Amino acid sequence: MDISSLNTKSNEKLDLSVRIVSGVGDERARLLGKLGIRTLRDLIGFFPRAYEDRTVFKEISELTPGVTVCVRAIAATSPELSHIRGGLDLVKLRVADDTGVMDIVFFNQKYMKNAIRQGEEYIFYGKTAGTVLRPAMTNPIFEKAAVSMKPGSKEASSGERMGRIVPVYSLTSGLSQNVLRAAVRRGLDECGGVIQGVLSDRVEEKYGLCKADFAYENIHFPSDEDSLKAARGRLIFEELFVLSAAMKQLRARRAVTAGTSISPQDFHEFTDRLPFTPTNAQMNAIKEASLDMSQKKPMNRLIQGDVGSGKTLIAAACCWMAWRSGFQSAFMAPTEILAKQHFQTLSGLLEPLGIRVGLLTGSMSAKQKLETRDKLKKGEIDLITGTHALISEGVDFLNLAFVVADEQHRFGVNQRSRLTGKGDSPHVLVMSATPIPRTLALIIYGDLDVSLIDEMPPGRQDTETFVVTEKHRERINAFIKRLVGEGRQVFIICPAVEEDEESDNGIKSARAYYEQLRKQTFPELRVALVHGKMPAAEKDAAMTAFTAGESDILVATTVVEVGVDVANAALIVIENADRFGLSQLHQLRGRVGRGEHKSYCILFEESSGDASHTRLAVMRETNDGFKIAEEDLKQRGPGDFFGARQHGLPELRIANFAEDMLVLNQAQNAAEEVIRGDSQLVLPENRRLAEQVARLFEINSDRLN
Ligand code: ADP
Ligand code: MG
Repeated sequence: MDISSLNTKSNEKLDLSVRIVSGVGDERARLLGKLGIRTLRDLIGFFPRAYEDRTVFKEISELTPGVTVCVRAIAATSPELSHIRGGLDLVKLRVADDTGVMDIVFFNQKYMKNAIRQGEEYIFYGKTAGTVLRPAMTNPIFEKAAVSMKPGSKEASSGERMGRIVPVYSLTSGLSQNVLRAAVRRGLDECGGVIQGVLSDRVEEKYGLCKADFAYENIHFPSDEDSLKAARGRLIFEELFVLSAAMKQLRARRAVTAGTSISPQDFHEFTDRLPFTPTNAQMNAIKEASLDMSQKKPMNRLIQGDVGSGKTLIAAACCWMAWRSGFQSAFMAPTEILAKQHFQTLSGLLEPLGIRVGLLTGSMSAKQKLETRDKLKKGEIDLITGTHALISEGVDFLNLAFVVADEQHRFGVNQRSRLTGKGDSPHVLVMSATPIPRTLALIIYGDLDVSLIDEMPPGRQDTETFVVTEKHRERINAFIKRLVGEGRQVFIICPAVEEDEESDNGIKSARAYYEQLRKQTFPELRVALVHGKMPAAEKDAAMTAFTAGESDILVATTVVEVGVDVANAALIVIENADRFGLSQLHQLRGRVGRGEHKSYCILFEESSGDASHTRLAVMRETNDGFKIAEEDLKQRGPGDFFGARQHGLPELRIANFAEDMLVLNQAQNAAEEVIRGDSQLVLPENRRLAEQVARLFEINSDRLN
């Protein structure tokens, strides 16, 4: 028989609707659809979120309260129904084995009265309560025990539900665990053991992975702990392998697209006119970028550098190079405040050289926007800075050849590509201050080259950091006064804009705290306020005034988190610091220590002596963003770390970016080998991989492109 045609058939079969599974009609198909399950492939790929280990059997005399086990026992009494206060129904009975007696209680499951018959033997699975002498189980699940088996043996029960490791799925209302389990069971049977993975025999062997059909069977209905482990190992590897292959293919494809080549410039002409000498790291990054831009393919480069490392300069140098070759540039920032600040910085650096710099943000008047758009189209603006407004309809360029996205993790890949769509395959520079572990960077930015700025401009002093509690309040306030007396400025960061009316949770709100500071604590100082709910114009005015030294203290929410640059600010006080992630605290701390002044960061902690104390401790110990990011990743897991979906991280079904880092490495190597031999995945042996990659792009079309 022709094996390949068999494969094709089974693959096609996987694309059939879940309706072919017996027991799944229109209604269940609709409910399954809510869980994203439409085809047979979706069904068998809907992995359990947890398992119940129903393999452990105990005799009643062995029971201690609080363990979850199976107990094989005979119903010693008839279930009795009673009603208790609050309209609750109670069904009670006593069960016994050779070693003792146990109470069973069901709440609000009246029908249990008739589900259990005195004298019959059952297997009960549940969490034990009561005492050692008189154990009990509340709402156990149970089934009738089959005749004559040993407890613990696989055939310890008559059904499928006891004596094994049982999958627990995420549900949607109207769909029960048992229905879903049964559907998956039949789905697997339907696939008849011809499930094919994308890994070659060689890869399976090399990395010690089990076969695909075994993996699918055992991820759902593991025959034991080891099989489950093997199944997980295989499926995690496979998922990361497909992902890696996709990213590598993307990269290989990008490399052939033609862009605008920008003739190499002697960028010393630019750097010589700067008010400072670029660091070696900055010079290297500029060189790398300039080399990229002189190629016939578009640059796709990530500049990764800690806050304050001077990334803006790299972008400025590239804008200058584009301008020298007669092309336009665009610089996109995630917030109004940042866009405005970049506009000012870049105007300052570039206008003296003859570059016309413009600004486009959502808060500008219609007339201003129209004017700017008009100039942009005519080529009367050489460099446009702005927010998302840059990617809106009607923004057209004469000849856009270079694009910067600052703080990329705030932008979806899609937004980046909408900006590049405004030019003819322009060169792209992405700047990020979020230090991302290398392996992860490959996934998020898999199609980018990376320049690392691992050196701070000279004269920077580490920001001294203190973790304090409320009892230090007086001293901190005195310290604030002293610094302001010396002519410095202070940021005070609050986690919320407004008071939470409902609860007195001790969270400082920017608005209320601002009033308190202004009226009571520091009436003699100039206190200002900025937060995300203010109209853009007010926000701008407050930021601009602070930057110009017109206020001493700026009470703010995290709107000042990214990029804001005030060299005279020497102290940042962060209220309720426990509420922030470490990386975010590090970003916030980066708002100070940007000038020549010795700077401080004070973290107010709600309580001390518990885990959070050690959590913040790392902030005191290091100013190294990479170390902090890794600690953060450890503490919170990657979902939180990256603020979930918006960072271009594709959703994973089974693998976990934090836990499976090692596997990710292996999967990347394995994928590299395949892509090296077949970059567009056209060889027959890579057909299934190609299909999976295509599917991945389809599912993540908003994130990958
Ligand atoms: P980030 O990497 O956080 O975006 P910026 O580009 O905003 O950092 O730079 C931080 C500050 O350091 C700015 O005030 C900038 O003018 C200054 N700066 C950048 N490069 C140098 C340098 N080589 N020497 C001295 N100061 C520099
Ligand atoms: Mg910046």
